[in-house]
Amino acid sequence: MTDTRYNVIVIGGGVVGLAVGLEITRRFPRTRLLVLEKEAGVARHQSGHNSGVIHSGIYYKPGSLKARLCVAGAAAMVEFCREHGIPHRICGKVIVATRPEELPRLEDLRRRGEANGLTGLRIISPEELREIEPHAIGLQALVVPSTGVTDYALVCQKYAELISAAAGSVLTSVTATAIRRSTDEIIVETSRGAFATNGLINCAGLFSDRVARMAGDNPGVMIVPFRGEYYDLTPERAALVRALIYPVPDPQFPFLGVHFTRRITGKVDAGPNAVLALAREGYRHTDISPRDLVSSLTFPGFWRMARRHWRNGLGEWHRSLSKPAFVRALQTILPEVTASDLVPGGSGVRAQALRPDGGLVDDFQFVPSGNILHVLNVPSPAATASLTIAKTIVDSAAAGLGLS
Ligand SMILES: Cc1cc2nc3c(=O)[nH]c(=O)nc-3n(C[C@H](O)[C@H](O)[C@H](O)COP(=O)(O)OP(=O)(O)OC[C@H]3O[C@@H](n4cnc5c(N)ncnc54)[C@H](O)[C@@H]3O)c2cc1C
Repeated sequence: MTDTRYNVIVIGGGVVGLAVGLEITRRFPRTRLLVLEKEAGVARHQSGHNSGVIHSGIYYKPGSLKARLCVAGAAAMVEFCREHGIPHRICGKVIVATRPEELPRLEDLRRRGEANGLTGLRIISPEELREIEPHAIGLQALVVPSTGVTDYALVCQKYAELISAAAGSVLTSVTATAIRRSTDEIIVETSRGAFATNGLINCAGLFSDRVARMAGDNPGVMIVPFRGEYYDLTPERAALVRALIYPVPDPQFPFLGVHFTRRITGKVDAGPNAVLALAREGYRHTDISPRDLVSSLTFPGFWRMARRHWRNGLGEWHRSLSKPAFVRALQTILPEVTASDLVPGGSGVRAQALRPDGGLVDDFQFVPSGNILHVLNVPSPAATASLTIAKTIVDSAAAGLGLS
């Protein structure tokens, strides 16, 4: 028995699912749209546990979806925040090289940023760095003027509000538990009854591979949860950081290295690291899910990834379990920071897709399957790029989803 009928259902009330819902209600106003979210509110996972940075697009391979959608998405996000009165600030950031071997990588980043269309990038001396960030040290730094900060939980709330105002629905506390497909419709069974739809978009973040399997599709990847832990700078020491101070990232690893972020609230935090979590929603060390662990350990790509990245992984665990080690990593770019300046902050868990060959999927990945579209890899900078990701998804999937 089906309670209700829709044209499109989106599973996942994070920034991507909501942006997709908003794009559909804007472009196809007569569409009956439903966004399903298992938690009691939107943005309860990645979208509400991130650094709040509006990324510029400097890091990503020219021509990749990440590069294109981030650069255009950052501009769209700033415009969206302006239009809807969401607090945001374009504060710029510095990427600081502290070892000679990082200098060519800094230059590579500058070239990559220019290839991606960023302007105003410049490499500066230690003295110029001190004018921008008086407490940071380095051999050279790269200034990225277009980076900003906002609050993505507020962005999500606004997306949800606009969807509802446009006659779409966002239902919270409803978990999709099974998906049945026939030739002309899809039945989504949930913790609150069944819903019928002509098209489905899977934006389930940390569970997107499982939702794909629920729909009878082989996602071809497994989602690996990487926890990012933060420390907060005490209010007395927050003046050590004016805006955003980042290290040069390790090109072998898809994460940016622990950095300092002055958030839109004015609070400064340090992090996030990238520790393999023992549960998909494992926000603490003690959160362990036997099901998630077994699915990780039995996926062939997991052991291949472990062989490739074990040294990096051990380093991340060490910095996670030892505050002095975390502080030492931070001191390379901000030597005055000490352990007593830092108090434990929040954490977030990233959904990172892993291939069977052990490679971490680098680019955004959207996989169509008839009248279903699976959004299988949308790690950072997907919050920044959410509006352009949504546009791309709806452009490519409209026909398959029966939107016109
Ligand atoms: C620590 C950290 C820092 C980051 N920093 C930044 C940053 O500064 N800038 C940036 O641009 N990006 C950043 N990111 C990345 C960004 O937050 C994510 O890329 C983005 O939030 C992904 O959004 P999403 O909607 O795909 O996932 P989510 O926000 O995780 O949403 C997925 C939703 O699906 C729901 N769901 C799952 N299964 C079901 C089901 N069966 N039924 C119903 N609902 C279901 C979940 O409850 C969840 O709410 C960061 C991420 C993390 C973790």
